[in-house]
Amino acid sequence: MEKNCLFCRIFKGEIKAEVLYRDEEIMAFKDVNPKAPNHALVIPAKHIETINEVSVGDSLLVGKMVAAASAVAASLNMKSYRLVFNCGPDAGQEVFHIHLHLLGGRKFGWPPG
Ligand code: 5GP
Ligand code: ZN
Repeated sequence: MEKNCLFCRIFKGEIKAEVLYRDEEIMAFKDVNPKAPNHALVIPAKHIETINEVSVGDSLLVGKMVAAASAVAASLNMKSYRLVFNCGPDAGQEVFHIHLHLLGGRKFGWPPG
């Protein structure tokens, strides 16, 4: 846990969020500035700055994040949606604690902008 990390603080409940799922390792909550009708973020309790710092030992954790995203999508009645990890500033990462975007409720273009 990093003292001044926004998502560590959300996981600890120090900053409020609209929680969609939580267990000891993972939580999902609504994005405060949604880019689609349904936009959630799935985060681990473990502070990992970017996907570049994910190791093989984190495989189960990252797998659980994907499973949580799919469970949240199902709870929102979404069968078609997009999952995104932005890694680094050029990809649009603004919060340096890994998070999986779950976006749905509209059509998306490909390739992304
Ligand atoms: P990134 O651009 O790093 O991939 O995504 C960060 C996301 O976090 C953005 O979509 C942004 O709207 C969201 N976000 C930033 N601050 C907060 C906050 O305080 N609460 C919530 N729920 N989402 C936030
Ligand atoms: Zn953190």
